[in-house]
Amino acid sequence: MKAIDKIRSLPKIDLHCHLDGSMTVESMQKILGREIGPGEVTAGDTCKNLAEYLDKFAIPIQCIQTAEGLETAAREFLLRTAQENTRYVEVRFAPLLSVSDDLGCRQVVEAVLKGLSEAREKCGTDYNVIVCAMRHHPKEDSLAMMKVCREFLGEGVCAADLAGDEAAFPMEDYMDLFAQAKKLEIPFTIHAGECGRAENVAKAVECGAARVGHGIALAGNRTIQKLCADKKTGIEMCPTSNLQTRAATKENYPLREFMEAGLRVTLNTDNRTVSNTDMTREMCFVQEQYGITTEELKKFYLHAVDAAFAEDAVKQRLLSFADQF
Ligand SMILES: [Zn+2]
Repeated sequence: MKAIDKIRSLPKIDLHCHLDGSMTVESMQKILGREIGPGEVTAGDTCKNLAEYLDKFAIPIQCIQTAEGLETAAREFLLRTAQENTRYVEVRFAPLLSVSDDLGCRQVVEAVLKGLSEAREKCGTDYNVIVCAMRHHPKEDSLAMMKVCREFLGEGVCAADLAGDEAAFPMEDYMDLFAQAKKLEIPFTIHAGECGRAENVAKAVECGAARVGHGIALAGNRTIQKLCADKKTGIEMCPTSNLQTRAATKENYPLREFMEAGLRVTLNTDNRTVSNTDMTREMCFVQEQYGITTEELKKFYLHAVDAAFAEDAVKQRLLSFADQF
């Protein structure tokens, strides 16, 4: 068996994956009724920074302005992840980017859950949804969104997140919002240390984030690494995306450094379409580039089981697949 086929057959968990950035080109074409060239929705190696990377979301976001679009996007997304033996995925999206006069927050979430549930009937992949607050949205709108989504907690929604341009909006401004999330007993992860400062990671952990998205800025910062190791904070690393947004270079990517620091490292895709990747590619990449062994891939899988915002029965099932490594 070729190495890539072996990797493709291994069980997988993806904890950091955006629905809009991971919609299949076929679903976008179906929803918009036109051809879409790869350059319109894929960042590629020439991407200069996070802002340019985020430009690639314009078309996918156009596709999720109706309940049908959201349903199609979610259904085809989950079916796609199943093709590489993804056993569990936490798919995230920002409901407020789809809310309009005709479509309320509750309907938006219901449409995504409907699409996912239909797909699970076919492919058996387990999932949960993480709802993202966007940094550029008014915080009172984000809080209202979280309150609506809380009603779906344990019914397909598992957690909240904070996403968007980290460098332009300091973490300090969101401490209150996540104090409220904590009060509402919504678990959460926060995009922190993607392109911003390591202190953003410390702040995220301090306000109760069980995981952080990316955390690349932790490189070289032993103090905050130790804080995350002690708190068992899940670190959602997304190598291809991190290189495209210039959060790190191939040569100084801190994967081994984080493993050696005892961090709870997980491997994820971020955006399957914008970054033109999947779990198989991420796993092959870290094997080739950083000499990650199959045993270490298994460790990432087990970290993901621990760090998942899933109920115990799902975690037990995920553990039962670990001996396939
Ligand atoms: Zn992300």
